Amino acid sequence: MNFTKSKALHQEALEHIVGGVNSPSRSFKAVGGGSPVAMARGEGAYFWDIDGNQYIDYLAAYGPIITGHAHPHITKAITKAAQNGVLFGTPTEHEVVFAKKLKQAMPALEKVRFVNSGTEAVMTTIRVARAYTKRDKIIKFAGCYHGHSDLVLVAAGSGPATLGTPDSAGVPKSTAQEVITVPFNETAPLVEALEKWGDQVAAVMIEPIVGNFGIVEPKPGFLEEVKRLTHEAGALLIFDEVISAFRFTYGGAQDLLGVTPDLTALGKIIGGGLPIGAYGGRVDIMEEVAPLGPAYQAGTMAGNPASMLSGIACLEVIEQDGVYEQLDKLGAILEQGLLQAASKAGIQITINRLKGALTIYFTDETVVNYEQAEATDGALFAKFFKEMLHRGINLAPSKYEAWFLTTAHKEEDIQKTIEAAEEAFAALR
Ligand code: PMP
Repeated sequence: MNFTKSKALHQEALEHIVGGVNSPSRSFKAVGGGSPVAMARGEGAYFWDIDGNQYIDYLAAYGPIITGHAHPHITKAITKAAQNGVLFGTPTEHEVVFAKKLKQAMPALEKVRFVNSGTEAVMTTIRVARAYTKRDKIIKFAGCYHGHSDLVLVAAGSGPATLGTPDSAGVPKSTAQEVITVPFNETAPLVEALEKWGDQVAAVMIEPIVGNFGIVEPKPGFLEEVKRLTHEAGALLIFDEVISAFRFTYGGAQDLLGVTPDLTALGKIIGGGLPIGAYGGRVDIMEEVAPLGPAYQAGTMAGNPASMLSGIACLEVIEQDGVYEQLDKLGAILEQGLLQAASKAGIQITINRLKGALTIYFTDETVVNYEQAEATDGALFAKFFKEMLHRGINLAPSKYEAWFLTTAHKEEDIQKTIEAAEEAFAALR
């Protein structure tokens, strides 16, 4: 494959855009450097770079693209939005339609508010929890990533962890002191933290199914115990479902697993590919938000018609019967194929998969927490990533990210991917 144009573009980008990318995880820093490949066009499960190379896409834009690229139903909705005017700064009908649709899928969202990104959604749930409890501290789990706002960049996950900067420069020490980080899938450290600081804790924030140190499910009973301990301390439970909502079922991880939080942060899939975030939860807590309550949150672009219509259209596609069964079916074929391919080449891997999302870890150990994910072989992953890229299979350039299937992937795409993986694993020996 020839990457001449991508390389040249990256050189030019470096002169004008910091690091040449608009989000650090897009750089190839975590896979040994080099120029990231620039895409020109996407359709269904494929995209094409500016040199004309075709890829099967498992990045799915880090999660949002669950229907594949340029899905006709979503494209039609976005076109309609463009024709009718994209921003009014007034209420629209679309916001209400979408709020009702989200609530139908996720009943714990008694009241919602739309924002523009997952970062904003998470940031605001913390403010609302602090307003409601009149406490300041939050507890989070090591390796979970909750966007780039100050409070949650303390011992954060995929992007920062990949870059080896778990604490971002520019986050005040005083802010970091308001955050306690405990390991995922263990309750004893949480108990300990709550014993020490419980009466100061506003909220416990968690990805109920982790997407940021790979796909990691909570052990049976873990979320239930987190919820019980959180409430016992008088704190609120916040689920960050920015990745997990509508990824594994039509609804949230909370609907799949039957554990509901007090507040939920959403993003990614619910925008159908356009910028979006949302947060919501119990009415009595959400009434803290302006204009009803004293917790301020606002947004010029919040609830904009294009994101609303795109999001509604996306949910209309994935609410159809059989969508998650099909993602699961293809996910299982992919998982088996990858395991066999690795085994044939004598390469040790572990795969964590839930439905149409999976992570390959280069290790022979199981991975249920961040420490274990961190200990897996990043150098081997980096080689695998590049071998796959050169065979037209696009993965996220980090050992901590997931592969995401879309409704556009077909069994033949999966077979091609497995064939590419056989060669890629063999090249690692
Ligand atoms: N929470 C989670 C679980 C995420 O994975 C992300 C983004 N990867 C965010 C929050 C932040 O969302 P955004 O990038 O839209 O700000």
